[in-house]
Amino acid sequence: MAITVGVFGAAGRMGATVCRAVAEDPELELAAAVDPGAAGEPLRTVAGVESPLEVAGRPEHLDEHPQVMVDFTHLEAARANVAWCAANGVHAVVGTTGFGEDDLASFRAAFVDSNCLIAPNFAIGAILMMRFAELAAPWFETAEVLEFHHDAKLDAPSGTAMRTIERMAAANADWAPDPTTTEIVAGARGGAGPAGIRVHAVRMRGMVAHQEVVLGTTGQTLSIRHDSYDRSSFMPGVVLGCKRIADHAGVTIGLDPFLDLD
Ligand code: NAP
Repeated sequence: MAITVGVFGAAGRMGATVCRAVAEDPELELAAAVDPGAAGEPLRTVAGVESPLEVAGRPEHLDEHPQVMVDFTHLEAARANVAWCAANGVHAVVGTTGFGEDDLASFRAAFVDSNCLIAPNFAIGAILMMRFAELAAPWFETAEVLEFHHDAKLDAPSGTAMRTIERMAAANADWAPDPTTTEIVAGARGGAGPAGIRVHAVRMRGMVAHQEVVLGTTGQTLSIRHDSYDRSSFMPGVVLGCKRIADHAGVTIGLDPFLDLD
């Protein structure tokens, strides 16, 4: 039996991509679509997917609840959508970014009859990049993180860059001090993250989401690079999340536990 999956934000850039990925996977069935901006429209036209479904304006309007709902919307909307999933025993697979500790605490209390995965980055290669950087960290004295994104990104550095540095800092707190005494252009050495690890945020037209972690020690450097070329890069992780969410009780932050990395 295929796992039934619904999509919040089905008319959005990520949501429509998720609709197509779910529809193409033989183990999943695209069973619901919610998006207030496209309420009443055929999913076929808003998401470019072969489906008889009509987009609902609110989850309360769904005739049947799918087993899993995927959310790539906006923070305020996602808070309500995730709460609806918890209240209705529906598993939630969430890519919307920006939740705070208070949100996570309320989700942990609310998910009793179903489970929730919140992953700030669904690209499996990016998850592995972070893991490899963490594994390498104790063996090097210097490291810097370069992240590259499209020129419409408003925040810097990226959440993935910060998470990478936090994990590297947790694996090695003892990095060599920055030797710079004169910075001719302010910011030339980037920003100092946890444990003083430097991060450089590049904003470039034509790029999507890319990151390179460079580590150095005596006579050698190690570069770990990941590139997301388009939104499809997130889909294998989203599909994996939908398939495995039932096996991960409560609230899981990050896709790592779904990849059996240890
Ligand atoms: P987007 O194109 O603006 O899509 C968001 C969609 O959600 C829009 O269609 C929006 O409709 C709809 N929406 C708003 N309120 C809703 C509600 N209450 N219920 C259902 N749908 C609602 O944005 P996007 O580029 O797809 O990105 C969405 C989110 O995903 C962002 O937070 C982004 O940071 C995140 N993201 C995460 C990852 C990851 O790997 N975790 C990767 C890429 C993006 P209206 O336009 O009518 O408001």
